[in-house]
Amino acid sequence: MTITRRNFLATAAAGGTAAAAACATLAPSGAQARESHQVPENAVGLLYDATLCIGCKACMSACKEANSLPLEDNIGEKLWDTPLELSGKTYNVIKIYQSGTMENKDKAENGFAHIKRSCLHCADPSCVSACPVSAMQKRPTDGVVTYNKDACIGCRYCVAACPFGVPQFQYDTPTPQIAKCQLCKHRMEQGKYAACAESCPTGATIFGSYKALSEEIERRRAMKPGEPNLFPRRTPDSGDTHEKAAPEYVDYVYGQKDAGGTQVRYLSGVAFDKLALPMGLPERSYAADSETLQHTLYGGMILPVVALAGLVTAAWKGSKDHHDDDDFDMFDHPEGGHK
Ligand code: SF4
Ligand code: SF4
Ligand code: SF4
Repeated sequence: MTITRRNFLATAAAGGTAAAAACATLAPSGAQARESHQVPENAVGLLYDATLCIGCKACMSACKEANSLPLEDNIGEKLWDTPLELSGKTYNVIKIYQSGTMENKDKAENGFAHIKRSCLHCADPSCVSACPVSAMQKRPTDGVVTYNKDACIGCRYCVAACPFGVPQFQYDTPTPQIAKCQLCKHRMEQGKYAACAESCPTGATIFGSYKALSEEIERRRAMKPGEPNLFPRRTPDSGDTHEKAAPEYVDYVYGQKDAGGTQVRYLSGVAFDKLALPMGLPERSYAADSETLQHTLYGGMILPVVALAGLVTAAWKGSKDHHDDDDFDMFDHPEGGHK
């Protein structure tokens, strides 16, 4: 029998498939599974309460200034910073939901509501898991998801991996980087905190420890709608509060469990599926799923074993056929091969 390139590869694939089936049977189920990472003990984050947001966009301006980002003109007036979405020049954008007559704030029917879009600083980030050179990292101390432009090779895996559509590639520069909020880590090094929270006049965006923000979230969810309550500005414990009737929140804290949970969380009076945030994400992180699969395939040596088994099968079959037929023509060698 003559061994052609085609039947060698077919034999190798068949051997590999058989080996894969055997490996799958033998692999201890779930032995390599890893659980979603949880937020670190000293995690920090943001709480954005859409019911307090008046759409002034002070947070957007402060973010641009704090991160030395250029203005973005999307309406052609060359006067204002008018980003409509996250972009290579914009880490933070306030968007608006509108319905019918727009008479009612934070109502789905004939109403409107604002929503802040920026990095959610996932507990177990897909961007970090997908980055092949660790340019994206999650700080073990406070859980901030950082980006190192010097390590980045521009593959954009993080862009594809993020379930929230956050990282943006700078297409319009000869030295592109990935653009995303790093929770103002450079300001934290100066003893400050997120510029968006510091600048928000209503306390719609506040910065604090994950634990303090969790307590604030529960406090607000326990409020009786319509009754006057105090809402802190800037941080949960700033002492600078303003009084306002408690809103009627939807029964969902966005970011509490979505895609494994995030350190930026949201409250709203309008369902989140109307607010440009993806709903229906699993509670288990995508990073846990993909790394479990990788570890099962590589850590369990299944892929290498499959490849080796395929090649050994093909080589053995070739050798057997060679001895049987005394006609071994590896890869259709033009001279007729070894005799
Ligand atoms: S600064 Fe505060 S109130 Fe103004 S748009 Fe931003 S989050 Fe809303
Ligand atoms: S929101 Fe996206 S970019 Fe931000 S940490 Fe999560 S996966 Fe990464
Ligand atoms: S934390 Fe800093 S970088 Fe992130 S959205 Fe707020 S101001 Fe912008």
